[in-house]
Amino acid sequence: IKIILSCIFVAFLAIRWTSNFDAESLRGAKVLVTGSSKGIGEQMAYHYARFGAKIVITARSKDTLQKVVEKCLSLGAQEAFYIAADMSNEPDLDRVVDFALKKLGGLDYLVLNHIGSTRVAMWDGDVEHAKWLMKINFFSYIQMAWKALPSLEKNKGSLVIVSSLAGKMPSPLTAPYVSTKSALNGFFGSLRHELAMKKSNVSISVCTLGLIDTETAMSKVKGKVNMPAYPATEAALNIIITGATRQPELFYPWFTYIWTLTKDWIPSFTDYVVQRSYNYNP
Ligand code: NDP
Repeated sequence: IKIILSCIFVAFLAIRWTSNFDAESLRGAKVLVTGSSKGIGEQMAYHYARFGAKIVITARSKDTLQKVVEKCLSLGAQEAFYIAADMSNEPDLDRVVDFALKKLGGLDYLVLNHIGSTRVAMWDGDVEHAKWLMKINFFSYIQMAWKALPSLEKNKGSLVIVSSLAGKMPSPLTAPYVSTKSALNGFFGSLRHELAMKKSNVSISVCTLGLIDTETAMSKVKGKVNMPAYPATEAALNIIITGATRQPELFYPWFTYIWTLTKDWIPSFTDYVVQRSYNYNP
């Protein structure tokens, strides 16, 4: 009964916010998307472009960013710029936000999406890697969000955080990654309360994604997991709609929400299913 009720609730929420979405609200919107040279971030750049937004994209690889910017302009972006930056390099974080503020004249959306590369493997005690990953996947997010907040506040803007089911429900073989996503959920959940208490104009959307068919994810999980992967372009569109409709959370695909409930209601069953979703022979 609980599962059926949850499905109905999720369907209700999905219908409510997709019907609230006004694509026109994104025409001319000033958007910075990180990690947008490939994968979900690249797809978000193309969707924003089709909606006629003004966008700044960033990642490390300059050549790829240049191609994505050209495609964004051909798809209808009012303006599109790129800036190459490494999110593990602290000075780059403010540099990217300053660049976007200057080129676009402010920000309506800051979409934080980038991640550092990590292995899908048993935890091997590499604390230095965990610290490095935390710097890219977590500390860079909070620094960039803080830097962009005054402009978002001025424009009644939105912070969009791309997280993962792994941040709600720990999965094996990715302990450092799971830690970074849990940290994001905790930090931005707390910040959302504070902004509401301060009667701030800024909305925060935290997006919980299941397995998405990006090249990086597919190559990393190949032969290691038995679970379906969902299209990056659809995930990207759902993230954008969630931000534009100022919803606090996205669960994509929808059943990721059910998993977040079953882990508390029936933890031993959930543990059983999670562990059997991985191909591991000691
Ligand atoms: P990709 O690996 O496809 O893309 C990652 C992006 O981040 C690239 O543009 C990459 O470009 C950039 N990047 C990597 N390292 C750095 C760095 N040090 N500094 C700056 N940019 C960097 O990732 P996905 O599209 O698969 O994932 C996007 C988001 O979705 C992530 O937050 C991820 O956690 C989340 N997610 C993805 C899932 C999936 O199954 N794909 C599942 C759940 C959540 P470059 O290498 O040129 O720097």
